[in-house]
Formats: sequence, C-alpha cells, structure tokens
Amino acid sequence: MQFIQSSPFAPWIFLGVSLALAALAVLVLLRLTKTAGQLAAVRRALAEAQTRDGLTGLLTPRQFGIELDEALLRCDFKGGAVCLLYVDVDHFRLINEAYGKDAGDLVLREVADRIKACFAENSALTRVVGNEFVLLVSGNQVVGRQAASTIANAFAKPISDAAWQVHLTCSIGIAVYPSHAERRNAIERAAMAMRSVKVLGGNGYAEYDQLGANEVRESASLTHDLRVALERKEFELYYQPKIDARSLQITAAEVLIRWRHPLKGLVGPDKFIPLAERYGMIQAIGRWVIEQACQQAMVWRQQGLRMRIAVNISGHQMRQDDFVEHLAAVLTKTNTPAARFTCEITESVALEDTSATMQTFDRLRVLGVHVSIDDFGTGHSSLASLRKLPAAELKIDRAFVTDLERSEHAQYIANTIVQMAHALDMRVVAEGVETRKQRDLLVDMGCDELQGYLFAKPMPAEELGVWAAKDHGTGEAMFRPSLYLETETHQLNDQY
Ligand code: C2E
Ligand code: CA
Ligand code: CA
Repeated sequence: MQFIQSSPFAPWIFLGVSLALAALAVLVLLRLTKTAGQLAAVRRALAEAQTRDGLTGLLTPRQFGIELDEALLRCDFKGGAVCLLYVDVDHFRLINEAYGKDAGDLVLREVADRIKACFAENSALTRVVGNEFVLLVSGNQVVGRQAASTIANAFAKPISDAAWQVHLTCSIGIAVYPSHAERRNAIERAAMAMRSVKVLGGNGYAEYDQLGANEVRESASLTHDLRVALERKEFELYYQPKIDARSLQITAAEVLIRWRHPLKGLVGPDKFIPLAERYGMIQAIGRWVIEQACQQAMVWRQQGLRMRIAVNISGHQMRQDDFVEHLAAVLTKTNTPAARFTCEITESVALEDTSATMQTFDRLRVLGVHVSIDDFGTGHSSLASLRKLPAAELKIDRAFVTDLERSEHAQYIANTIVQMAHALDMRVVAEGVETRKQRDLLVDMGCDELQGYLFAKPMPAEELGVWAAKDHGTGEAMFRPSLYLETETHQLNDQY
C-alpha cells in the first residue's frame, strides 16, 4: 500500500488493473449471457418436448387437453360449437406385423402430417395412443362431417417406402360439444362413435348418438360375458333339416348355435358370432360346435339315422393352421365318415384367395368332407373360381328365395344358380323356404334340396326326433320314414 502511494507509476498501474478487471468482467458477462441464452433454448426445447409427441410432433394429449378446455370455455362464453373427431387407422397392427415397427412409425408420422396439413386454423391435433388421433375443430355437425371426409380423402393416397406400399383407411367418430357431450366425456363419446364404425367393418365415420352408444355398450357387455360362456356351458346347438326336393327325405341337419345367456335369454348367432370372431373366441367355440355336432351325429347314427351333419365354418377357422387336423381327429373319435360331415362355408370366405384359406380347402378335399358354399349369390363367384373349390353343394342365399314370388329378377338369379351348379355337378339347396309357392318354384327350377320354416325351424336335437315322428302338416308325407332308414341298406340317396 505504502509502495503504491509513493510510486509515480501508481495511477497507471491502478488504471491497468482496473481495465483488466473490466475486460474480465465483460468476458464473464458475455459467457454468462451465452450460457443463459443456451439455457433458455434448452428450457424452450424442454417445454416443447413436454407439449409435443416425440414421434409425430403433434400436441401431447395433456397439451391438447389444455387447448380443448380453452376451446370449450370460448364456446361457453361466446356460443357456437366444437367438434371432436376420434380417428383410428384401420388394421394398423398388420403394418407393424408385416413390415416392422419402423414402417409403423413412418406411417404414423405420415398420417399425422396429412391430417395436420388439412386443418391449419382453429384446430388442434393429438395422438392419444398408438394409432389413434383426436382432432378438435371449431364448428357444428356440418363442420364435423366435412372434417371427417377431408380426413378420409387425406388417406386416399397410398403411403410407401422403398420396400412397401400400403393403402390405408380410417374409422372416425364425431362428438359435438355442447349438443353431444360435456367436457368430461367429449373424447370418450367421439371414441364410442368411432367404435360403432369399427363394429361395421371400419372405413367410414359416424356421429355420436345415444342409441349407437347403447349398442356399443351392449356389445361390450356381451363380449365380456362371452369369454366365460363356453366354460359355463351356456351354448346349445339347434338343428334344422335339409330336405330332398323330390323324395322329401332328410338329407342333412344344419347345426345352428344358440347362447342361453343367464340374464338375456336365448341370444342368436348373428349377435355373438361376429364378436367371437373379432375378439379371438371363435376358434374355441368352433371346435366345441364340431365336437358336439359329431357326438350328436354318432347318437343319431346309432339310432339308424343316416343324415349328414352340416356345420357353419367361420372364415377365421378356415384360416387356422390346425383346423382340418382337429376336424379329422373328431371325425375319427366319433366314428363319423368324412363324407357325412358338411362344412358350410360362405361364398365370401370361399372367394378369399388367401393362401391360408386355399390350403384349408385342399386339406378338406384330401380329408374327403362334403363342402357347401353358403349364402351363394351374394358374392361374385365365377365359374372358374367355383371349379377350383372342392364344393359339392351351393346354397342359394335366403334373400333370393324370399323375393322369388314377387321378383322375376330373383327367379332369374335362382334359376341361373341351379343351372350353373348342375353344370359343375353340384347340388343346390334353397334356404329360407317359407311358402309353398316358393317351394313349387324352386322344385320347378330343378333345385335339389330345400330348407326353411315351411318344413321345420331349427330345434334342439331331441325335438328333431319328436318332430319327425309327428305329422307336421306341410304335406310332406314321405318325410317320416326317411329319418330311420338303415345306414347299411340305404341305396336310394346314397350320395347324402
Ligand atoms: P346361415 O348359415 O345362413 O343360417 C340360416 C339362418 O336362417 C339361421 O339363422 C336359420 O335359423 C335361419 N332360417 C332358416 N330357415 C329360415 C326361414 O325359413 N326363414 C327365415 N327368416 N330364417 C330362416 P340363425 O340360426 O340365427 O343363424 C344365423 C347365422 O349365424 C347363420 O346363417 C350362420 O352364418 C351363423 N351361425 C350359426 N351357427 C353357427 C356356428 O356354429 N358357427 C358359425 N361360425 N356360424 C354360425
Ligand atoms: Ca349355413
Ligand atoms: Ca345361409
């Protein structure tokens, strides 16, 4: 201190040190400012990450929720409406399975980009989970419907990569605030509407409606109960005879499943088979049907009854690897000749040209079972496609039989089916015959077998025997003796 005061250089030294300190401070300040800038950027990125979906860059569901709240509040104060569109990419799982997760991610990004590009203003979009998106647009039902078709159009162009290309569709549910929903259930209701589209096969849109919602709820509750129905032995088999149009003898009994629900009573297959197919239960149910039906066939055979047993086979069963193996095992176990077992397979499944279905058809041919093409006339079978199948029987769809008396068109179609089938050496069964006039027309056309309420409704196995023993008043006098013909000595209709 002493030295500085006394030195002539002291002011200069002081100035130098001060300047150095100032420079240092500037440097530190500059550095700090830079770090603070970087920090702000990091903070911004973090905030962004919290509001954006990592895969698609869309709003996170949380951020979307905030925007939704704001939009609904605006609606409450200023009036107007807000539409929520729940968009589910159909069959997305198949893309992941076929081309891998990267392809799935690419598809999701592309879908997000396409939807986002269509709705710039007054909208918000989020990916709620997996392949499900929710879009918010301001406006009423009309705006909602327009938005849905805009999205559907955005899906029209295929999405592709070097190695693959996919054509996508989507199912969209629309819920409008305030007319359809409250804040707490708006997204859920749009999702419900989406599921009502899914139930009908997807690729479309639907608005939320209470009735539809009830149906979806009903399906959900049925599906839940269906899972335990087999275990609880709630299924029953009914049988409906097929009758030879000329001899009036029973040729076969078609097996039709029923579900005796503990609370709902008897539930028809049209209600629960589609659910069983959709939720992976059809295989177990289908196996049970085959086992029970063959057991019953064994009992009837022991009573001297020689009709075929005809079982409806779902497309899902046809695609199953071990379907024929299981069927063969049951036939052996119950001593049922393969030729006495009919697989009724719908025309639409028969037309499916997938390798799995075709393999099953080949195996059925080798096993020697009798194959019938059900609901015929509703698909677009050609002679060529029919010839490839090991089918020995065509069943004219009930719709044509119902219309026979009043529509020449239906008559023409039924007639053509009979001619075509005969040209291919197949027999023709007409199902849903309810009146004598229908029966007469079908017999005149050369139809081989008839089935319908005119003869008998589906009934439990025991009732079929009782019914056959009675005079059932339809004038089919020859019917009764046919039921108990001896298996070995029967010659007349040996092909049955
Ligand atoms: P499907 O194979 O076309 O069976 C004919 C349906 O028409 C049956 O309905 C039968 O009860 C009804 N029916 C028969 N004759 C007449 C008639 O004269 N008039 C009218 N109006 N209807 C008649 P059901 O039993 O409700 O079966 C509906 C469908 O469910 C069946 O159509 C079949 O596709 C499916 N199904 C039934 N049982 C099974 C099964 O065990 N497995 C599978 N996968 N599907 C089954
Ligand atoms: Ca059938
Ligand atoms: Ca049918």
